[in-house]
Amino acid sequence: MPQQAVQTRSIANTIDEMQAQFSHLKTLSRTQPINDWDTRETQLDNLEVMLSDNQESFAKAISADFGYRSESETQFAELFPSFTGISHARKHGKKWMKTQRVSISAVYRPAHNEIQPQPLGVVGIIVPWNYPLYLAVGPMIDALAAGNRVMIKMSEAAPQFAQTFADAVAHYFSSDMVCVVLGEVDIAVAFSKLPFDHLLYTGSTAVGRQIMAAAAPNLTPVTLELGGKSPVIVLDDAHLEMVVNRVMMGKTLNAGQTCIAPDYVLMKRQHHDQFIHLAKEWMKKHYPNIENNPDYSRIINGDQFKRVKGYLDALSGGEIYPLTDAESNMETRFMPPVIVSDPAPDSEVMQEEIFAPILPLVHYETLDEAIHFVNSRPRPLALYVFGDSNSNIEKVRDNTVSGGLCINEVIIHVAQHDLPFGGVGESGTGSYHGKAGFERLSHMKPIFVQNKLNGLNLLLPPYGGLFKKAMALFLK
Ligand code: NAD
Repeated sequence: MPQQAVQTRSIANTIDEMQAQFSHLKTLSRTQPINDWDTRETQLDNLEVMLSDNQESFAKAISADFGYRSESETQFAELFPSFTGISHARKHGKKWMKTQRVSISAVYRPAHNEIQPQPLGVVGIIVPWNYPLYLAVGPMIDALAAGNRVMIKMSEAAPQFAQTFADAVAHYFSSDMVCVVLGEVDIAVAFSKLPFDHLLYTGSTAVGRQIMAAAAPNLTPVTLELGGKSPVIVLDDAHLEMVVNRVMMGKTLNAGQTCIAPDYVLMKRQHHDQFIHLAKEWMKKHYPNIENNPDYSRIINGDQFKRVKGYLDALSGGEIYPLTDAESNMETRFMPPVIVSDPAPDSEVMQEEIFAPILPLVHYETLDEAIHFVNSRPRPLALYVFGDSNSNIEKVRDNTVSGGLCINEVIIHVAQHDLPFGGVGESGTGSYHGKAGFERLSHMKPIFVQNKLNGLNLLLPPYGGLFKKAMALFLK
């Protein structure tokens, strides 16, 4: 009986289809590992052409999911880092994948040591809704450059983009390389239980815990790119106009729905009134007539809108300063930015990741107090510090631990392909992007190569005088 060919597809809509495609990719990864650069480069080329050909339809689909998002934001925050990430991997990938000679202790010479980066096999990627393009493509770049096959679970909260992206992948990639999984949370749960060779998850910390638990029985290693509250510390000598310019940029981009958006600001009370004045002026200049401004995004869905509105409605303590004349609108999911001054520490805006255009201002008296404030909360994904004095900036740098640190800037560190990107503690496990991502999604296999001539035979039993003399040289 001739064996029936397995029907493989680049899109899975059901748990059965997903499992069949996973088995297919896993078998291929064990029988046809991608050890050459040409095949990997071709995948990066395919990804680039796919993005280039579909950028408009991708931006339109994302906008439809959000109820509106400007194409420029999608270009700036999703397409730009995707294209530059592909170029970076294509430029350096061949070098990254080379087996490297590394040093060896004189005791073992003339043997030598090598590290060989090998593909892990099949990498699973789980994508959130806030930047559904870049958070699918970024991990894909690293996984494909490292010679892996890839399965991607798109977010059910951005279904139009998920379908558009899946259709494009089916067109530009072989089902022997990439599969996109569509569907609701039940499929996401089943996806996280597949015995991937690595699972890279981007999303909330709460679901991150479930992902780690789902991966544990398979001993699947995970990279968890999670959320949390990313604080801004404003030092006494910071240029307030610059602070407001950068913080407001970070808070209004995608209407605050950015994992590394500045969540709240810690500053001296003396800056308070001027900060609010400058923030209002900034809004007039950059988002005039905000309700109809084509650069300002909507909140992704009604549940998220209610969640954030609820934070403001239930606010204990603190004062709300609207930064524009516009009112929020549940129907259109339009939410104008506001500042909340001095919120109670136990209020939701100070307990939960805000993920919306609400900016709490918290006041400190001494820098030690500000550092303590940050350190007494979960480790942030990003920390931002603004100021001129090197000694105070270094004090913040050396006495806080965060996924990443930006000095006199916000958000832009995520686009540095020469820097690893990731969280620490509750904001994430492991990092990726560029070489760090390549190594994260490779097995960096250590290889010891013995020489015909070597001294180890002199140390065999029975352990005599020579052995004792040799040990005496090393044992302290
Ligand atoms: P989410 O955790 O609700 O969902 C993310 C993905 O997980 C979706 O694809 C969903 O299908 C899947 N999922 C949901 N429940 C699951 C389960 N029980 N098992 C397996 N998979 C499941 O997150 P979200 O609301 O889409 O994204 C917002 C969060 O993501 C924020 O906290 C934000 O800070 C974080 N985030 C982090 C980064 C980063 O790089 N660290 C980037 C973007 C967003």
